[in-house]
Amino acid sequence: MGAVIPLLTIWLVLLSAPALSFGADGHRIIAIIAENHIRAKTAAAIQEITDGKSLATLSLWPDRIRHLPAWRQSKYWHYISIDDHEKFDDFPRNPDGDVLSSLEYFFAQLKSAELTRQQRLEALAFFVHFVGDIHQPLHVGRRDDRGGNKINLKWLKLSKTTNLHRVWDSLIIDSETLSPEEYSQTLDTASPVLIKQWQSSGFLDWARESKNLRDHVYNFGAGAKRTPIQISPAYIDRNKPIIEQRLLMAGVRLGDYLNRIFDPVSRKQ
Ligand SMILES: [Zn+2]
Repeated sequence: MGAVIPLLTIWLVLLSAPALSFGADGHRIIAIIAENHIRAKTAAAIQEITDGKSLATLSLWPDRIRHLPAWRQSKYWHYISIDDHEKFDDFPRNPDGDVLSSLEYFFAQLKSAELTRQQRLEALAFFVHFVGDIHQPLHVGRRDDRGGNKINLKWLKLSKTTNLHRVWDSLIIDSETLSPEEYSQTLDTASPVLIKQWQSSGFLDWARESKNLRDHVYNFGAGAKRTPIQISPAYIDRNKPIIEQRLLMAGVRLGDYLNRIFDPVSRKQ
C-alpha cells in the first residue's frame, strides 16, 4: 500500500508544513490522550519506531502526504460513505479503500513481524490518524454531500463561507483557546468504568457511533432558514461537548489498541 518514502522524508514533510493544517489540533489532542493511556512497554516500542518523536507529530503526516502523487490512493482511506438508510452489515464499499478497511489493514500490519522500519513508521502514522478520523462523525458521511463537504455555510459572523465538514474537523475545536496539551488534559477525566466500556469495542462500533450522531450534526436550528445555512453560537454550544467526547473516546481507544499491538501479553481483561 503506497510507495516507500525514505524515513527522513516523513520528518521533512512534517517540519516544512505550514503552521496548523486542517484538523491538526483534533489529531494532536487524540494522540496526547492516547499517550496518557499506554503502558511503559508500549511507549518504549513507539519511541523506538518514531525515533523519539511524539504520536501527536506523527498523527499529522497522513493529512500532509495525501495530495502527493506517490500517495494519491491514500485519500480514500480517511473516511467511509454510507447513506442514512444503509446498514453496516451490507452496503457498497469503495474498492479503493475506506477508513474501516484501512484501520484493519494497518492494525494487522503493526502486529506483523515482517515490516521494515520504514513500513512500521508509516503504518503507525496511518493507524493513529485513522482512529481519530473514524471518530469524526462526518468521516462516516452521506454520499450525496460528501460527508458535509458540499454543505456550504456561514460560521458565526465571518463573511467567508465554509462547509459543514470543516466545522466538525476543526472550527469547533479551534474555537477553544486552550493548547492541544491543555485541552487534552482537561478532557482526559473519564472514569475507569467508562474507559473500560469505551475500550470494549471495535472499528465497526466506532463507525456506527459516528453515523448515529447525524441528527445532531444536521440540526441547524433557526440557522437552517438562512441561505447559506448559518452556524450559530447555540449550534456550537450544543455540539462542542459531542466533539469533545469523540476526541476523548478516540484517545482512550487508541491507547488501548496501541497496548494491544505493542504490549499484548499484559493486556488486562
Ligand atoms: Zn484524515
